[in-house]
Amino acid sequence: MGIPASEAFAVSTHILKQRIKGNKRYPLVMMLEPLWRCNLACVGCGKIQHSEEILGTYMSPQECWDAADECGAPIISIAGGEPLIHPQIGEIINGFIERKKFLHVCTNGLLLERWLPRLEPSKYLTFTVHIDGMRELHDEMVDRKGVFDKAVAGIREAKRRGFRVSTNTTVFADSSPEQMRELFNFLMDDLDVDGMQVSPGYDYPKAPNQKVFLQRPQMIETFRQIFAFPERKHWRFFQTPIFLEFLEGKTAMQCTAWGNPTRTVMGWQRPCYLMNEGYVKTFDELINETEWDRYGYGRDSRCTNCMAHCGYEATAVKATIASPLEGVRAAISTMGGKKA
Ligand code: SF4
Ligand code: SF4
Repeated sequence: MGIPASEAFAVSTHILKQRIKGNKRYPLVMMLEPLWRCNLACVGCGKIQHSEEILGTYMSPQECWDAADECGAPIISIAGGEPLIHPQIGEIINGFIERKKFLHVCTNGLLLERWLPRLEPSKYLTFTVHIDGMRELHDEMVDRKGVFDKAVAGIREAKRRGFRVSTNTTVFADSSPEQMRELFNFLMDDLDVDGMQVSPGYDYPKAPNQKVFLQRPQMIETFRQIFAFPERKHWRFFQTPIFLEFLEGKTAMQCTAWGNPTRTVMGWQRPCYLMNEGYVKTFDELINETEWDRYGYGRDSRCTNCMAHCGYEATAVKATIASPLEGVRAAISTMGGKKA
């Protein structure tokens, strides 16, 4: 898969163990939202609309580690809200590294430079910085000027200090293929990020601006145009080739939301990171008592326009591991490289 070799190995081993045990549903990446408060208010965000009381609730480090133990996923993706405003985020990160969990800290980058001197690079730690476009487009999507420059400065400093850095780009209706091309070339050739992730925006009903979301046919057309640029072969994605082909409409897949279970300040969220049908107290209840077959494309109207990695990348990873040829293709795709 399009992730670093050590993580790919951990995920492959995990899947094989689950298959040997005869488990039908098992997590690959735990989405952890230890807070929902954020220092931004992006136009397409579906996470920051909670009451002030809920926004003031933070999970403790022990609750974060216990959730990971309960779930057993080899990869933890800490999102939010903005994880770097959690007062104990350093302790949470270090605790996961001690437990040998592969950790992706998903940040808008505003506080990255402040946190870096307090952390050590590790093969278990990746900062995933949210970048939706070059300066003008990104600042428009996050609704604040200066955020792009701050995030870029954070990425440069993280790279200088030896941290692994990837980026996460959400493609919205306002993001033209040409703008994405310019961004991906900048991230690869100028910032030299270790990898990139890309996903279409999910049409959160509560997002402040509903006009930013693409419908599924438009998403597919946009991704076709983005991946048709000749520089595509230099772009390193921390995602499987199968998932990227799905975005272009070359492959059909069904969502496996149980592959990316979400633990929030309110408990385990059903059924996924994007859609909220309530919370349960334990991972066991989530995995065994959720009616998973009710969700996904063609099953629930709220899934119609979802092509997000939290629903479909787990499907793609399983397909990759099931096929040796796909495994080789995935390994090659992570190499990317500089433009000639
Ligand atoms: S940075 Fe993330 S959590 Fe914060 S407002 Fe933007 S999309 Fe929402
Ligand atoms: S398709 Fe899957 S990930 Fe997307 S909203 Fe539906 S259940 Fe969630």
